[in-house]
Amino acid sequence: MYERFWQQAGDKSTIVIPGWQSMSYFSDAGSLCWFLEPDFAEEIIRLHKIVGNAVTEDRHIVVGTGSTQLYQAVLYALSPQDAVEPLSVVSAAPYYSSYPLITDCLKSGLYKWAGDARSFNKEGPFIELVTSPNNPDGYARQSVVNKSGGILVHDLAYYWPQYTPIISAANHDIMLFTVSKSTGHAGMRIGWALVKDEEVAKKMVKFVELNTIGVSKDSQLRAAKVLQVVISSCQYPTSLGSLFDFSAHLMEERWSLLRAAVRQSGLFTLPEFSPGSCSFLNRSFAPQPAFAWLKCQELMEDCEGFLRSNNILTRSGKHFGVSPQYVRISMLDRDENFYIFVERLSTIHLRHSIQVDERGE
Ligand code: PMP
Repeated sequence: MYERFWQQAGDKSTIVIPGWQSMSYFSDAGSLCWFLEPDFAEEIIRLHKIVGNAVTEDRHIVVGTGSTQLYQAVLYALSPQDAVEPLSVVSAAPYYSSYPLITDCLKSGLYKWAGDARSFNKEGPFIELVTSPNNPDGYARQSVVNKSGGILVHDLAYYWPQYTPIISAANHDIMLFTVSKSTGHAGMRIGWALVKDEEVAKKMVKFVELNTIGVSKDSQLRAAKVLQVVISSCQYPTSLGSLFDFSAHLMEERWSLLRAAVRQSGLFTLPEFSPGSCSFLNRSFAPQPAFAWLKCQELMEDCEGFLRSNNILTRSGKHFGVSPQYVRISMLDRDENFYIFVERLSTIHLRHSIQVDERGE
């Protein structure tokens, strides 16, 4: 979806790295996050300042190979090394399907996936992941566990103005961000954490050190350039507007096409959102999430299978801790694929009634 913007940006977003450059493990040997490229750190702060979506003052920045690595670094950093049992990790369903898989993949003695935060009732310390806006359903979220002893981790991958109105600067203890969903550069594998507590930040740095001895400098330099172009697109917009104007407009268009297709099909429902006033785009609009969280009619139990039989590939609700009556569909594909998807969805009732007739139901 973002390719057109970056094609238009052309050479402004190109970097050249000579063979002799960026060879050392170290980026800033004396600083807490010694593998963080200073130019990248500077652009992160400038970007948050201009968008107004997160407080960066009195925070440590930890860079990661995607926010996926930082998620693991956070679990490592927050888990006591000498606990008798693993720390519980919870998130309200529907939650991002990778959380349980990543949390339990090494069967760690430090932490363990404990499922839906709403039904969590174990005594003792725990980590609650708050994804806002949420993947998969797009709603803005706050913590739900009503108990002491919890440490909150805010995954703010989608807290950008193309997806949701920026209401205020997020000001949490641990916040995760990624270029994957902000600029579209998922393949660069760059994420960053804004961390208040120095000891937590140090342990996260230790994890990245043990795991990959730092983060690709080439990617960080490219990320710095990409953020610099995004910032200058906000300050001096071209005919496409800023990256956020461009992508917010596309998302708005896509959501209106999707809602029309869902109405025409008559077989599904989508989440409804109330508008909010965005301090960055200076207008009020309803969230337009990166995913469509589609619910199939009561009678259709396996929504993923039904859509697959209609050549639409989705991810079943069962991976997100809820029923297979729900599916998640990406809204960020290239134009041509998105148009085929809405066309297939809008005509699905015709094929569905033929199938039902053939079965004699
Ligand atoms: N958190 C959430 C909520 C996500 O949806 C994703 C990507 N699907 C990630 C983290 C992972 O981001 P990254 O590409 O930076 O590893």
